[in-house]
Amino acid sequence: MHDVLIIGAGPAGLSAALWCDELGLSTLVLERNGEAGGQLLWIYNSVKNHLGASTGTGREMRDLFVAQAREAKVDLRARAEIKEVALEEKRVLLRSGESFEGRAGVIIATGLRRRRLHVPGEAELAGRGVAESASGERATLAGRDVCVVGGGDAAAENALLLAKVCPRVVLVHRGRNLSARREFRERLGANKRITVLTESVIQRIIGASEVEGVEILRSGRTDPLQINVQGVVVRIGYEPNTELFRHQVRVDSRGFICVTSEQETSIRHVFAIGDIANPIGPTISGAVGAGATAAKVIAARFSD
Ligand SMILES: Cc1cc2nc3c(=O)[nH]c(=O)nc-3n(C[C@H](O)[C@H](O)[C@H](O)COP(=O)(O)OP(=O)(O)OC[C@H]3O[C@@H](n4cnc5c(N)ncnc54)[C@H](O)[C@@H]3O)c2cc1C
Repeated sequence: MHDVLIIGAGPAGLSAALWCDELGLSTLVLERNGEAGGQLLWIYNSVKNHLGASTGTGREMRDLFVAQAREAKVDLRARAEIKEVALEEKRVLLRSGESFEGRAGVIIATGLRRRRLHVPGEAELAGRGVAESASGERATLAGRDVCVVGGGDAAAENALLLAKVCPRVVLVHRGRNLSARREFRERLGANKRITVLTESVIQRIIGASEVEGVEILRSGRTDPLQINVQGVVVRIGYEPNTELFRHQVRVDSRGFICVTSEQETSIRHVFAIGDIANPIGPTISGAVGAGATAAKVIAARFSD
């Protein structure tokens, strides 16, 4: 039994944990991954827009956050595989059989994950040509022909980045028009190494032990097009990690948790903070701020 259970150790969860500690609430943070940090671990560029800390990468900022949490002796359980959550009872059951209860409240801080294609070959060839990130895995992808999937800023940015080190980059987008900003669209059009295929959908990623190609279905055609590539980067947006909660608390049409200005969900004493509850403007600062708000609300009620 703890005062507060926090699910997720990204910026939001870590901030809430730090505040709970400061406010004298005993807290347990349950993190699915082997390490804390959430999306900060995916940022390979500098982060200069979080007040008070400017770092070369997201991981560096994560290290600052984690060091501060450690100093406060935040109780963090990594590789915590949650089997079930009973939010009304403020109880969390792990696959290991352990059960935890937050007597003052539960804070959900599970953030976002990259949207996947869910096609054959994607999971099987992950890390063997299907790359998580163009910036993070540029050295591995260098010299290969690659396919980037998506039509927004992230896809365009990845394609442009890869075109510096790859002989051929095929950008595949299911819509008729790219939604990437104009500057990116112009640079894509001007780059001789980049081919843009619109109204095209990846059906399959091909390869025995490494990516060898992709199979694409083009609008209005029945015969699939196969192109030989040795790398695939998927950039089709993000989706909220709400599976465990969405049948218990109110969520919007995209699965983001609806909260009050106090970060409270539709269940009393259950809070949601950070990107999971912020479909409009997700930021590190917003996540950190929401963590502080939730902790303060819980502490104020608990002391009454
Ligand atoms: C490439 C990139 C660049 C960015 N650049 C910036 C920037 O410059 N400035 C800025 O302000 N923001 C930036 N962001 C956004 C910023 O990283 C997020 O807004 C922030 O990380 C959100 O924090 P969070 O704690 O809400 O969620 P997350 O960071 O997503 O953390 C959620 C945590 O919950 C864990 N979790 C998920 N499901 C479970 C479960 N079932 N059980 C236990 N744990 C679980 C996850 O493993 C993760 O550790 C960027 C994001 C990306 C991807």
